[in-house]
Amino acid sequence: MTTVTRFAPSPTGRLHVGNIRTALHNWMLARKAGGRFLLRIDDTDPERSREEYVEAIREDLAWLGLQPDGEERQSARLSIYEAAFERLRQAGRVYHAYETAQELDLKRKIQLGRGLPPVYDRAALELSDQQRAENEAKGIAPHWRFRLDHSAPIEWDDGVRGKQKFDPAQLSDPVIRRADGSWLYMLPSAVDDIEMGVTQVLRGEDHVSNTAVQIQMFTALHAAGMASAGSAASLPHPAFAHEALLVGKEGKLSKRLGSLGCDAFSERGVEPHALIALLARLGTSLPVEPIADRGALLESFDLSTFGRAPARFDDADLDRVNTAIIHQMPYAQIADRLPEGIDEAGWHAIRPNLETVAQAGDWWQLVTGPIEPCDFSKEDQAFLAQAASALEWNDDPWLALTAQLKESTGRKGKQLFLPLRLALTGKSHGPDMGELLPLIGEAEARARLERAARG
Ligand code: GLU
Repeated sequence: MTTVTRFAPSPTGRLHVGNIRTALHNWMLARKAGGRFLLRIDDTDPERSREEYVEAIREDLAWLGLQPDGEERQSARLSIYEAAFERLRQAGRVYHAYETAQELDLKRKIQLGRGLPPVYDRAALELSDQQRAENEAKGIAPHWRFRLDHSAPIEWDDGVRGKQKFDPAQLSDPVIRRADGSWLYMLPSAVDDIEMGVTQVLRGEDHVSNTAVQIQMFTALHAAGMASAGSAASLPHPAFAHEALLVGKEGKLSKRLGSLGCDAFSERGVEPHALIALLARLGTSLPVEPIADRGALLESFDLSTFGRAPARFDDADLDRVNTAIIHQMPYAQIADRLPEGIDEAGWHAIRPNLETVAQAGDWWQLVTGPIEPCDFSKEDQAFLAQAASALEWNDDPWLALTAQLKESTGRKGKQLFLPLRLALTGKSHGPDMGELLPLIGEAEARARLERAARG
């Protein structure tokens, strides 16, 4: 059976690091199994959904290299939800309710005050036809709830959390449709998962109790005759896995994480490969490593390595992985993002000094010049004059120069290297001089040494 996963963001904001992680893991599940990864835009809420966020989600996935194999939009599927709803209505699995938000709130408060779980009391089911008619006459439009079946526990084997068991009587019959006819998330999602043949639902653990409810929706929809797409037809419901939430370094769900998206990462110089390498392993028993090769990441990807403790997101880890990924990045992969003139040798020379690719231009300036002039002591000036005349161009001019000067002046270590580096680059640290000097070139190198020698 073909594995089908889906990433189902609501376009009410930009993706944040938590959604990105969910998207990645769904992509990985599908890729690893040779299956399909769908993007489903959950835009049934016209008030809060924005087209610009739909665009941004697509762009972010493209930046991350997580191309979906198909895209669906819930707003284009309303008639399908309507039909499914009608089937459930005929099967007696949905009912209308008239309580206002304030009334429901009050009920919850009373229950909590008595130490009871705040479960909806199903008062709407008890209404007589006359009471309903009275509500309608008062102009109160009903909203709709899905009636849970209390006859048996809801159980599933969760891909991350293991065996799960819920007593449906401890859950509220969920509101699935608002009084204005618009849909809440629960039913459309279950309908889509059936219709699109989704075989695996991987999402955050904040959805665990939704899963319990949706499992009953799957059963009810199947019983009401809703057919699944293609190969998933035999599944009673998709396999479920709920990953632990992502928290900040301090161990709390931070506001910052909730707004940290691809735009902020790319501005900060984070490479998509680095973010992926980190998020693929964060919260698993596998070490976070700077692995840029997605095939290698996929090979070790396994839900059984996922832990139940919150995954801690630490910027320092990301920076470490990012730097290491940049240091191994091949020229071909980066060439079109580098400033003019940086060739393969140039990239190899400066790459080990980079924390972000954007810094490449600054380091490359040491090759092209102009460089910052430095002050030298009289002694160093004389030494640099000697260096200018000793400079010889061969396979390894730096090795030749330093060997020669060591011999003739008796200088070694910092005394030998630092004035040369300063004179040649204007900086006290930077790329390997053995690689840099050939890029600077003979004439320019000699000119820089001579200029420094003159003071
Ligand atoms: N739109 C839902 C959310 O963003 C999707 C949850 C799901 O994966 O089913 O929370």
